[in-house]
Amino acid sequence: MSLDKKKAGEKSGSNRPATGEAIMEAKHVTKQFPASGGRTLKACNDVNLTVYRGQTLGIVGESGCGKSTFVKMIVQMFQPTEGEIIYDGKDITKLKGEELRQSRRKIQMVFQDPAAAFSPKMKIIDIVTEPLMNFGLIRRSEREAKAKELLAMVELPEDFIYRYPHNMSGGQRQRIGIARALALEPEIIVCDEATSALDVSVQDRIIELLVKLQKEKGISFVFICHDMALVQSFAHRVAVMYLGNIVEVLPGIEVGTNAQHPYTQAMLGAIFSTHMDFTKKIESIESEAPSPVDVPTGCPFQNRCDCCMDICKREKPALKQIGKDHQVACHLF
Ligand code: SF4
Repeated sequence: MSLDKKKAGEKSGSNRPATGEAIMEAKHVTKQFPASGGRTLKACNDVNLTVYRGQTLGIVGESGCGKSTFVKMIVQMFQPTEGEIIYDGKDITKLKGEELRQSRRKIQMVFQDPAAAFSPKMKIIDIVTEPLMNFGLIRRSEREAKAKELLAMVELPEDFIYRYPHNMSGGQRQRIGIARALALEPEIIVCDEATSALDVSVQDRIIELLVKLQKEKGISFVFICHDMALVQSFAHRVAVMYLGNIVEVLPGIEVGTNAQHPYTQAMLGAIFSTHMDFTKKIESIESEAPSPVDVPTGCPFQNRCDCCMDICKREKPALKQIGKDHQVACHLF
């Protein structure tokens, strides 16, 4: 197995509970998009996931598996076709007007490319305090002190507040993205491939910052990533997605030793140098994933699975509990 054990050990700590107090629940969430020829692309298919308070839910899978679509529904950039997302006792997919605006305060997002997320004409002081100004939470005269406070949280020097994003490194810009997300004191931060564009050493320091902020502020993270070694090193739970379906959910600390689904095992068995990077070819799976507009009846993984049985071609396996905090969607279980 090519797991980066050193990395895993550094961040995981000995006690990483996989459950706790639920802060958000996605129930039967499906998202469809119209595709060419009158067909339908099912980007997310009956997704059920829980985010626990003060914990990290990692979502991994190859590109196109639906993980980005799912988190865009959490931050209400997309509306689900079916299903509900319960936060603070309400289905946030139904919120409108001021209620929607207030719920957005509590669920923030950090994007993959911080450079694209900021206006190059804005100084850092404007970027990190803009959400507070928009919500009328601070006066103009308070901006400088607040911006310095936010930069201190992400371990950047306070004199950076008068810089522009293009005068900073990729890692520093991602820290600014995190500072901006922290400004409204959110309960949940969604990180969409937030470290993927960074060098490995910078990536490690950003993860260490997120872990520290989580301990200090009790923030829940939903961290989507294609790097299994990275995500299992700090996530409390890891959900594996394949063609819009959740195929396995298990504690992060068990990924390297107890993953059961043939797809998760194939990903773990892939030989990569330092990280399991799913943007590269998974060498242990020879065939390509089917097109998301042409998913076969039965198990979506059937054409790539060495264990495929007759039933797998007829019936789609449901996600079943196979152990404490461990669910798998496979007819082998
Ligand atoms: Fe393989 Fe069948 Fe399990 Fe799908 S349900 S992963 S085809 S064994």
